[in-house]
Amino acid sequence: CGITAYVGKGQALPFLMQGLSKLEYRGYDSAGVTVLNNGKLTTVKQKGRLANLEEALKAYDMTGHVGIGHTRWATHGVPSNLNSHPHTNSDNTLAIVHNGIIENYRELKEILLEKGYTFASDTDSEVVVQCLDYFYKQGGDLLDAVHKVLNCIDGSYALSIIATKEPDKIIVARKDSPLVIGKTDEGYVAASDTPALLAYTKDVYYLNDNEMAVLTKDSIHFYNRRNEELHKELTRIPYDL
Ligand code: GLU
Repeated sequence: CGITAYVGKGQALPFLMQGLSKLEYRGYDSAGVTVLNNGKLTTVKQKGRLANLEEALKAYDMTGHVGIGHTRWATHGVPSNLNSHPHTNSDNTLAIVHNGIIENYRELKEILLEKGYTFASDTDSEVVVQCLDYFYKQGGDLLDAVHKVLNCIDGSYALSIIATKEPDKIIVARKDSPLVIGKTDEGYVAASDTPALLAYTKDVYYLNDNEMAVLTKDSIHFYNRRNEELHKELTRIPYDL
């Protein structure tokens, strides 16, 4: 299980895929990516090996500059194409990848079902994107909506989130699941562990529990759970790592 994210001047897909392959050691049963192409989210996900995903990707044009990737180690819902991440909302304007477990997903799912939401998967993770849809459509920006979602969910998470309405950014957040952010010449990248970043950069920011970051190709901002902005220092990974 691992996540990757890219926002920058170059293409997102090569980073996302090489990162997922570097995270293979963490174990997985399925893999998927979402790339924002010309204002639209394209999601390709497959049960099984990364090679299956690579094969499926040949049928798509995935040249966009913003994207998220995932390898899944199923905890809720069998390994299948539908249960693979990324998960999207019904009008395909939001996409999320999640590592960890949403402990209160049943309660949240029930509330959302009552509000008329439908679910495409059996995962705990899908409540994150449907809940995000609910708050985002009430107004405010993506960061506000993510903040509200994090106040609703219990459990562990590393999350990467993209939205077509705010196409230049990725929001990442973590609690009890690892996440590291890299600064590259092209923009910013994120992943569950440093091996996924090393081919692109050795300059990293470590996200702590209950912190969020908003990444664009030329900026980064960190926030705590009270939505207060935080200052973080860039750390250089030693060369011999
Ligand atoms: N609990 C989520 C699922 O089963 C995420 C698992 C993971 O960390 O890969 O889909």
